[in-house]
Amino acid sequence: MSAFKDLMAFQHTTEALAQVAGRLGWDQETMMPRGAVDQRAEETAAMQSVLHSRRTDPRLGEWLAQIDASALGPVGQAQIRHIRKSYARALKVPADLAKTIARVTSRSQGQWAAARAAEDVKTFLPVLDEVVHLKRLEGQALADGGNVYDAMIDDYEPDMTAAELQAMFDAMRPRLVALRGAVLDKAPAPKLSGSFPEMAQMDMARKLAQTFGYDFAKGRIDKAVHPFSSGSGHDVRITTRTSADDPFNCFYSTIHEVGHACYEQGIDAAYALTPLGEGVSMGVHESQSRIYENQIGRSRAFTAWMFGEMRARFGDISVADAESLYKAVNAVHRGYIRTEADEVQYNLHIMLRFDLERALMAGDLEVADLEAAWNDRFKADFGYGVDKPSNGVLQDVHWSVGLFGYFPTYSLGNVYAGCLHTALRKAVPGLDADLALGDTSAATAWLRATVQIHGGLKTPAQTIADASGMTPSPEPLLTYLEEKFGAIYAL
Ligand code: ZN
Repeated sequence: MSAFKDLMAFQHTTEALAQVAGRLGWDQETMMPRGAVDQRAEETAAMQSVLHSRRTDPRLGEWLAQIDASALGPVGQAQIRHIRKSYARALKVPADLAKTIARVTSRSQGQWAAARAAEDVKTFLPVLDEVVHLKRLEGQALADGGNVYDAMIDDYEPDMTAAELQAMFDAMRPRLVALRGAVLDKAPAPKLSGSFPEMAQMDMARKLAQTFGYDFAKGRIDKAVHPFSSGSGHDVRITTRTSADDPFNCFYSTIHEVGHACYEQGIDAAYALTPLGEGVSMGVHESQSRIYENQIGRSRAFTAWMFGEMRARFGDISVADAESLYKAVNAVHRGYIRTEADEVQYNLHIMLRFDLERALMAGDLEVADLEAAWNDRFKADFGYGVDKPSNGVLQDVHWSVGLFGYFPTYSLGNVYAGCLHTALRKAVPGLDADLALGDTSAATAWLRATVQIHGGLKTPAQTIADASGMTPSPEPLLTYLEEKFGAIYAL
């Protein structure tokens, strides 16, 4: 089995280099001096070029041809499955195209940010048109005559298809729309006000991270414009942000990213720096961040504990009791922005993007018509018009960096979280009593043992099916939402 050993040794170095490249990205968003922008672009491009040549190295093909996977155990077989897939993918995309995409999307991201700040869609459209054109070419190369958009989804959620996602969204839409309509007819939820100093918000963010089991010996929290989680294994860092009048933004972004980070920290250490050593898909990743953030973090029991923690740090927060804080945290409200959407409306934002990007990739929608299509669709789905581009088509970075097929994994994560939550409640019947004391350990230990520890060992759907004991479906999420918001809004 020396071919297997050689392959894994080579892969180990590639994975280590990929972690280094990721750390450069983390640094760029947190610590890097402003004057280093151009040099960093060179450094990043150099790392990407090293990684690309390693991922297409012909020795990979030779080793893979020599290895008899059936002679390996389940872990070895899973490693080979991942490496084979990644190698085949890297070979399908011509090197020139991969390079052009990297160059254009890095320029496009800057142009998107400038256009968004200036509320000027027109200056962004030419480069977005280039990105769409290039990603269509890449999708065609990956699809090998099959469905282009399915091939793109596969990068983020292996084995998932647009048809399956469509069926999932079809089941979700009518019930979410009905729930939203019933809730918005009721009196609005109580609102938080008070003084929320940045230092105290960061202190609370650290407390929340610790409460959810984030290991600070293998991670750290810094501030960044956009919250994210980065790295795997023994170095998983998160960022958060503060907002003077909306501390929930800081707290729930932190819990969300802690969910992502705990997934990475929770993977079996034996898989470190191998293809199994990171989250298996974006959907499963999002299931962890969302169950930490919503089903646990926005539960009545946990917010009762938060009420005391907030009063201790911020004094009078204008909501009288724990029950009012619970309602404030779960307020269903009008809004344009996906990342600020409540649990009831979040998936409606995703459906809009799913339909538009699929049309873009299929060539049924041109970039020139994208803003009008977005605005029409938003009006139809939400009942009011988009007031400015930063609240509409320019709000998300994803398309500017070529992430097509990514958005639906957010909804998939919510659906998976719904399945896991049902199983978690059965496995830990006394959960609310723990959460009311700020003790999430039983919940996070269950998630670690059933989902996180497996890393990339199984397929995404199998990971969720084994953990939850059910075939993934939107039913548990929809029932949870109807019960929770039905009670909060006395429907
Ligand atoms: Zn996330």
